Amino acid sequence: LPTQLADGLPLTVDVSAHPRSDDERAAILASPGFGSHFSDHMVLVKWDVQNGWHDAKIQAYQPFSLDPANAILHYAQSIFEGLKAYRQDDGTLASFRPEANAARFAKSARRLAMPPFPEDAFVAACDALVTIDSAWVPEGGEMSYYLRPFMFASESFLGVRPSNEYYFCVIGSPAAGYFSDGVQAVSVYASEDYVRAAPGGTGEAKCGGNYAASLLAQQQAADEGCDQVVWLDAIERKYVEEMGGMNLFFVYGKDPDNVEIVTPDLTGTLLPGITRESLLAAAGELGIRATERKISLAEWRDGVASGDISESFACGTAAVITPVGSVKARTGNFDISTEMGPVTAKLRQLLLGVQHGTTPDTHNWIHKI
Ligand code: PMP
Repeated sequence: LPTQLADGLPLTVDVSAHPRSDDERAAILASPGFGSHFSDHMVLVKWDVQNGWHDAKIQAYQPFSLDPANAILHYAQSIFEGLKAYRQDDGTLASFRPEANAARFAKSARRLAMPPFPEDAFVAACDALVTIDSAWVPEGGEMSYYLRPFMFASESFLGVRPSNEYYFCVIGSPAAGYFSDGVQAVSVYASEDYVRAAPGGTGEAKCGGNYAASLLAQQQAADEGCDQVVWLDAIERKYVEEMGGMNLFFVYGKDPDNVEIVTPDLTGTLLPGITRESLLAAAGELGIRATERKISLAEWRDGVASGDISESFACGTAAVITPVGSVKARTGNFDISTEMGPVTAKLRQLLLGVQHGTTPDTHNWIHKI
């Protein structure tokens, strides 16, 4: 383990006195699900006006004790990230593009008027947790160890202004492959009643409030019999933006030698997904053109009807790539496919291969731990 997370930020290690037994851990790793089991340790770093970032430590995973007046309970000044570490086929541990998550985290912090956490310390904190809890990184299939770095206001004060105290924290959770029963296409509901983000709002920040505000629309999607909500732009309610927690891609063209993937451009209201960006960068290797532009719900529907759009999929850290099978909207429903299309499958294989160390990492995305 390192002795510091960054220059001037020494790291103290307080090993858990009560780690889970090998048997308990093995039982969890046999069927980890997603997001409900956590490894034995956590990283915690404090910030205050006088000292900046200080008191970095690894300690036993444990609850926080919060004053009822703690700002986070009232005004939601909180941000988070999500990334994965993988046990590579050669047994070593690696994460996927943690520097990109560190950069997005710093941008989110600025939007929420929080002190940015140093990007090198972000990567070092993730590495340190994976190292001390390496036994929690599952092996095989599409299994991974999901890292959840987050930062929240921690001052007890009810005035509405940026907090004078924050915690940065990293916890980790073993995660099963998203599709243990084979990849399934999701059904989506295009929300015409609610919007996720408006220009000038917090849509491109990964802040807790965005997710709180999305839940009712997600509930509506479920009530309509759909798996996920798809968001439209706030002004015209016309252009497709993204899915619940994933970005969207549309595959144009049936001729395998002449395929283009299109994804909504980053207008400031979408979360700039790292999976999205990776696909845009890697598509060329498969001879696929990649374009960022606006696409309306009507273009999506008409494109599927005419056959111009042969596949649609969503992408993100948790599920990598998921085919979109059907769309429900007040302006009309349409079916795309119940199966994963060949272009979706090729892109999915490429990303999974790089992440698990079986495909050459030509972009230098794999971060060895
Ligand atoms: N959009 C939203 C709203 C998300 O929460 C996520 C998950 N972070 C994504 C897109 C996909 O981003 P990434 O590829 O970085 O996981």
